Amino acid sequence: MRCSFSIPQRPDLPPHRNTPQEVVIATSRTGTATWKRIRKRALKEAQERGITRCPYCKVTLNYEVSRLPSSAEPDHIIPHEKGGPDALHNLRIICRACNISKSNRAAPKAQTVLRATPLKTSRRW
Ligand SMILES: [Zn+2]
Repeated sequence: MRCSFSIPQRPDLPPHRNTPQEVVIATSRTGTATWKRIRKRALKEAQERGITRCPYCKVTLNYEVSRLPSSAEPDHIIPHEKGGPDALHNLRIICRACNISKSNRAAPKAQTVLRATPLKTSRRW
């Protein structure tokens, strides 16, 4: 996310150095305390409701360890980029692999879903 603001005029500077400027700074939406709180609550509620599998690739979600391909992550149903709010009603829990491949689309890339299906073996169990 980008945020811009104007620098106020400075009477102490000569006119040629006193032009109004707009400064653009990058901010982190997911680094804010608000998002961290919503994220934690979404994960806790999903765990309490017994959601154990990713709805896309059916991998067993890992709620204990983050940053694994199977780690449980909140996903925006309506992407944030398309106006979806950072609110519990707009979140569902999917695996990290699907969340990363999904980005701001409606569904993850098919490749990710296929990659998570069990390997075929020649052995009969
Ligand atoms: Zn998944």
